[in-house]
Amino acid sequence: SKEDVQAFLKKNAFVLFTVAAVVVGIVLGFALRPYKMTYREVKYFSFPGELLMRMLQMLVLPLLISSLITGMAALDSKASGKMGMRAVIYYMTTTFIAVFIGIIIVLIIHPGKGSKDEFGKQQTIEQVSPADAFLDLIRNMFPPNLVQACTQQFKTKYGKRVVHMTVTVNDTLFNSTNGTQEVMEITREEVIPVPGQVYGVNALGLVVFSMCFGLIIGNMKEQGQLLRDFFDSLNEAIMRLVAIIMWYAPIGILFLIAGKIVEMDDLTQMGGQLGMYTITVIIGLMIHAILILPTLYFVITRQNPFIFIAGLLQALVTALGTSSSSATLPVTFKCLEENNRIDKRITRFVLPVGATINMDGTALYEALAAIFIAQVNNMEMNFGQIITISITATAASIGAAGIPQAGLVTMVIVLTSVGLPTDDITLIIAVDWFLDRLRTTTNVLGDSIGAGIVEFLSRHELRSRDVEMGNSVLEE
Ligand code: ASP
Repeated sequence: SKEDVQAFLKKNAFVLFTVAAVVVGIVLGFALRPYKMTYREVKYFSFPGELLMRMLQMLVLPLLISSLITGMAALDSKASGKMGMRAVIYYMTTTFIAVFIGIIIVLIIHPGKGSKDEFGKQQTIEQVSPADAFLDLIRNMFPPNLVQACTQQFKTKYGKRVVHMTVTVNDTLFNSTNGTQEVMEITREEVIPVPGQVYGVNALGLVVFSMCFGLIIGNMKEQGQLLRDFFDSLNEAIMRLVAIIMWYAPIGILFLIAGKIVEMDDLTQMGGQLGMYTITVIIGLMIHAILILPTLYFVITRQNPFIFIAGLLQALVTALGTSSSSATLPVTFKCLEENNRIDKRITRFVLPVGATINMDGTALYEALAAIFIAQVNNMEMNFGQIITISITATAASIGAAGIPQAGLVTMVIVLTSVGLPTDDITLIIAVDWFLDRLRTTTNVLGDSIGAGIVEFLSRHELRSRDVEMGNSVLEE
């Protein structure tokens, strides 16, 4: 009946908007491609998308800090120790499975055919030694300056550049009567890989700090009450801001997707090896996201994983649109707490950590890409080298920030660890923006399923804590 339809629409409005945004974005993007917009025009066109990105990023810092602090403070140290262990075991296991899938798939499909000719010219990439990169990872856990940790600079390797130039046209050639000179300004737009920089948050450092801080104020009895209340209410306020942004999100996602499709290179001109490589990555990520993670969820919780995933739809689409798991974090929170009813004590605790260190998609991608580059160079990796790749790919995924194409930057570690040419990263840049979106979606899915599993495994601790605190269900 009409009421039913209305009720359905009301309940699922967000989901419908989100799905519509993706579809309209894709259609619009392809419809506008023939107009060959310039880089500047594309920038203007995707402005609403850029705004969404900025709004989400704006909330990440206070959200990350307040949720982790309140999450840790709400648990006693024994319970949080147990849950922490479960989360870490889940992260490690799924990351290793992802790496394993990546390696097997690339060895079976063998997309690299031992020739670099079809890729065109390459750029030189800065060398980083694996030992230094590893030390950097540890260093980042202890930011010497907390304020600075909130505005860390990240290197991004590739961007576009608009070239302005002034040329003098000697008019005499064309106009023999008056022979004047004319100065013309030309703006040429080129796509050149240039090293760039973005500002973000040193999430790893803030995660470590907030966890310790939360644990301590949780144990401080009355003296800690003021701080506990403060961060609790800060967290609540931020989540209300997230709720507002969620209404804007579909519009932002529409333009992020359409803008990217308008600007992307012609895929039909992609070389055979690169095409095969893209397909290999997609297959690997699909196996992990559609087969492994849902199966794991089902085996442990005995609940339908696809109902769980349906509740995450907005978060997954936001990941696809923004290519950043940290920008997606606010939406992931909303989906898990509101649609999937995951206990806030779990989400606050595991989601910020997960978004920072648990990146299944990135780990799978890095291992797969490294072996692909070996294949292109006609180098066979022996068993020892494959083990090295699995370890460094895991470390590189932990170290990668949740920002667009961070995985490409940390891949240098994986390549150097087995003596592969780091300049060959440029072979796969052309498709990285696309694969980045898919691996980010996988990363967010992995974090969310992790929250579901950790909640299930921790139900006894949560219940006894409720009994102890004298509430039937906390915060619901
Ligand atoms: N963009 C990814 C993320 O935010 C990281 C990566 O580049 O793999 O999860």
